[in-house]
Amino acid sequence: MYEDFIKEARKIYGSSFIPLHRPVFEGNERVYLEECIETNFVSSVGAKVTEFEEMIAEFTNSKFAVATVNGTAALHTSIQLAGVKHGDEVITQSLTFVATCNAIAYCGASPIFVDVDLDTMGLSPNALEKFLNENAVHKKGELINKKTNKRIAGCVPMHTFGFPCRIKEISDICIKWGIPLIEDIAESLGSYVHDTHTGNFGKMGTLSFNGNKVITTGGGGMIITNDEELAIRAKHITTTSKMPHEYEFVHDEVGYNYRMPNLNAALGCAQVEQLSDFLKKKDEISQIWRNFFHDYEDINFFTGIENTKSNNWLNVIIMSSKKIRDDFLKFTNSKGVMTRPIWKLMSNLEMYKNCQNDGLENSIWLEERVVNIPSSVPFNLE
Ligand SMILES: *Cc1c(COP(=O)(O)O)cnc(C)c1O
Repeated sequence: MYEDFIKEARKIYGSSFIPLHRPVFEGNERVYLEECIETNFVSSVGAKVTEFEEMIAEFTNSKFAVATVNGTAALHTSIQLAGVKHGDEVITQSLTFVATCNAIAYCGASPIFVDVDLDTMGLSPNALEKFLNENAVHKKGELINKKTNKRIAGCVPMHTFGFPCRIKEISDICIKWGIPLIEDIAESLGSYVHDTHTGNFGKMGTLSFNGNKVITTGGGGMIITNDEELAIRAKHITTTSKMPHEYEFVHDEVGYNYRMPNLNAALGCAQVEQLSDFLKKKDEISQIWRNFFHDYEDINFFTGIENTKSNNWLNVIIMSSKKIRDDFLKFTNSKGVMTRPIWKLMSNLEMYKNCQNDGLENSIWLEERVVNIPSSVPFNLE
């Protein structure tokens, strides 16, 4: 199988080193960047930021979008605006990229790790409900964790590799228990549940435009929301909380310099113009891989769940054991075809190892078996 896999990858992506996901700049990138330089608007003021925000709001069918300097900043801002305070707890996945947990920690809060579903790799509504039933009580209008006596102040599920989790069910549970919901949609731009774009199920959704994501601005992020007040607050605190004035500098609360520079937004505008095309091509690649792995009984090509549509950001195969996974990773990477295991569980990292978790049975199972395979938009084919 290993040799055939290399052959298939080379058929799609050619003979040189094949990364997991590389960006493609085949649109108006140069034109828009040139515009920024010619007009001198390269930094924190400029028309491209607003334009990019409007394009993302339209694409995701959200009412508002606020650009940030990266996805982590978007998460930090959103978690703070959801009301998370020092000493609180926020429920999230152990199977995620470290930014999700770091953003919780920046607010002075600590993560609680709840298990994922095997068929979505995202937060499990059943595990969430079970955790709350066993641990949470309402006291004086607040939701308290009986084990730690701390407030449970938020829930941040993540749509792993672009595959939507059971977000409607999670949203219903959060509403029932009164927990603010923020979706980490860093990996799921272009992913839907029924016809609703991910990020529209809670208070806010947070995107990343890092170099490896579906579209990139070099570095960048975005908060999407359907709540006008939150959008205004997000814009305010990500731009140093400066009060509008012709020449005076007055800031009315502790703010952040989290704004996206105009240069990055220019890149973003050009990338959004190509997004539908990227998604179409990524769907074709995913089909090729799905057909390829059809013949291998002991390898499961991951497809997500019914009534969801993935953006196919990173294709996933699930190996039958850790040993086989490690052999495969070693072989493919030595041949110049990049493959990668999923992240180490957050609950095993030094800074989060003492946070409460629910046993994380599925997360542990997936951690040992999941492999990402090359998933870029083809760059040597039309
Ligand atoms: C990429 C990513 C982020 C944000 O990353 P930045 O590099 O800060 O833009 C957050 N969460 C997840 C799950 C991600 O994959």
